[in-house]
Amino acid sequence: MTKCLSCSDPLSNSFFKSFHEDSIQDVPRDCLLDNIDMVVWDFDNTITRYHTSVGAMVSSNFKDVIKDEELFVQTIKLLLGMKKKIAIASYGYKSIILAVMKILGENNVFTEDNVITPKDIHPDWREGYEPPTGYNKNSMLNLLCKRYQCQPNNVLLLDDSWTNIINAKQNDFCTIHLAHGYHRYISTDLEKMDNIEDFFNKSIVIPCK
Ligand SMILES: [Mg+2]
Repeated sequence: MTKCLSCSDPLSNSFFKSFHEDSIQDVPRDCLLDNIDMVVWDFDNTITRYHTSVGAMVSSNFKDVIKDEELFVQTIKLLLGMKKKIAIASYGYKSIILAVMKILGENNVFTEDNVITPKDIHPDWREGYEPPTGYNKNSMLNLLCKRYQCQPNNVLLLDDSWTNIINAKQNDFCTIHLAHGYHRYISTDLEKMDNIEDFFNKSIVIPCK
């Protein structure tokens, strides 16, 4: 039977495990990676080990800030090879995100255009702050849709924030909730992620509606 994951406890130890065991066969075909045009990462605590949107981070060096750099690079290569678009949507500072992404060297595909932060959305929304009334991460995802000519149900958000995931699902975006960020031990509870494509195809969260 297909489960609605927004009704599950995202932080329970059995979250991914139960999804994999019970729901894989019932994942609709249109939710698989084949039908995803763009993958969007949250930044802080999803790509990174810790929150970078604090003043102290601006001048520090960013060594080891990426949670699983090898996996992240492998994923970028996989997705670009499949002609997928890649983006970051963050409440943080664009300058910090772009500086951190330079760590990736020749694999850095992030620019002013595919990294969306509050200053892209509204002058009242300051980088490093929660959104003003009427705005949330969907504002960023919608901008990416417009900029890269995608439809919400062809866009996949990876985010450690359950609030962002719930909001995105309500606007028909595909989502994977990464409570502990993007690293190779999140495909199931403790099972190592050996096949990235398999992870994406088995982990797409089914829209509630
Ligand atoms: Mg985050």
